[in-house]
Amino acid sequence: MGQRVLVTGGAGYIGSHTCLELLNAGHEVVVLDNLANSSEESLRRVQELCGKSITFAQLDLLDAAGVDALFATHQLDAVMHFAGLKAVGESNDIPLHYYSNNITGTLHLLEAMKRHGVWNFIFSSSATVYGVPESVPITEEFALSATNPYGRTKLMIEEILRDVAKAEPQLRAVLLRYFNPIGAHESGRIGEDPQGLPNNLMPFVMQVAVGLRDKVAVFGDDYDTRDGTGVRDYIHVTDLALGHLAALDALPQIHGCVAYNLGTGTGYSVLEMVRAAAQASERTIPHEVVARRAGDVGEVFADASRAARDLGWRATRDLQKMCEDSWRWQSKNPSGYKTQ
Ligand code: NAD
Ligand code: UDP
Repeated sequence: MGQRVLVTGGAGYIGSHTCLELLNAGHEVVVLDNLANSSEESLRRVQELCGKSITFAQLDLLDAAGVDALFATHQLDAVMHFAGLKAVGESNDIPLHYYSNNITGTLHLLEAMKRHGVWNFIFSSSATVYGVPESVPITEEFALSATNPYGRTKLMIEEILRDVAKAEPQLRAVLLRYFNPIGAHESGRIGEDPQGLPNNLMPFVMQVAVGLRDKVAVFGDDYDTRDGTGVRDYIHVTDLALGHLAALDALPQIHGCVAYNLGTGTGYSVLEMVRAAAQASERTIPHEVVARRAGDVGEVFADASRAARDLGWRATRDLQKMCEDSWRWQSKNPSGYKTQ
């Protein structure tokens, strides 16, 4: 049965793809976003793709009264909470801003949920909560830690939710720990639109492929991995979006607060990613090995079996599909949403 879902951060990269899948599955979507790192164009295109409409509130989670009023206006069944700042480097430079935006924003949301009796919650957590993992693959039982303020906001929000779950037995909270989301909707109409220099590997690689940047800097080739470069668990953003729908369907069976890894379970190295992107784009992608990036871990990939067991979800889109879809988005929209 269709639910009315509040999607915070719904105009952003992962949120917009999730809105599309929610609408396709017959749910109603209310988006709350302050557009700090996104544009309304993404939502316009989501609506165009599915022929359904979204209720959009341009609102900051720091505006507690505004958030409360939104809950008073719409009878919500569930909340998917994507809104937050996510740049690791920036979080080291302006930690107070990160704590305020991500933590205080989440508190306002949870307070409004409590006041209005909305107890179904799905949170965008991250594999960063595993800090420097002791081994791979990573299960949800691994020790949690953080190595930067961004990661600490994710960890703190997880802890806040575990506390709230103890105090409020009605709460059903799913913590989705994303590994490395890449790719774009297969239409090439929506995708990731980083502002300025991309922080993550794949947007950078795609900008090199399309000619916006000269070459990819490979951060270290002396890790203990098969070719010495860093290994990550890249997951197609549509698979990730579908993970949220699976979590929404499973919420009635969830008690308290439960974490799930959303990854494919397979790791690829930086050089393998560059090669796959070159193949998909049929472009050469110049690259050069430089020093390691501070704080980076050699190898990270998920054990995603808990999500398969409890949510009936697994990623199905392979690396070639991820790269082809990234390239379709990048080549059709070389400057992101600003082009059209
Ligand atoms: P994004 O920046 O594209 O989307 C986040 C959205 O939240 C943006 O549209 C932004 O305008 C909005 N926002 C930020 N602060 C807000 C506030 N105070 N009030 C209202 N709106 C606000 O990022 P994304 O890649 O789509 O990530 C979504 C979520 O997933 C984030 O919480 C991020 O930390 C988490 N996550 C992302 C990745 C990744 O690699 N992209 C990995 C793990 C976890
Ligand atoms: N990386 C790289 N060059 C870049 C960006 C990233 O070599 O310009 C490497 C990075 O060291 C890591 C992998 O690519 O091994 C993925 O990095 P990303 O920042 O996308 O994700 P995260 O490190 O947060 O998992």
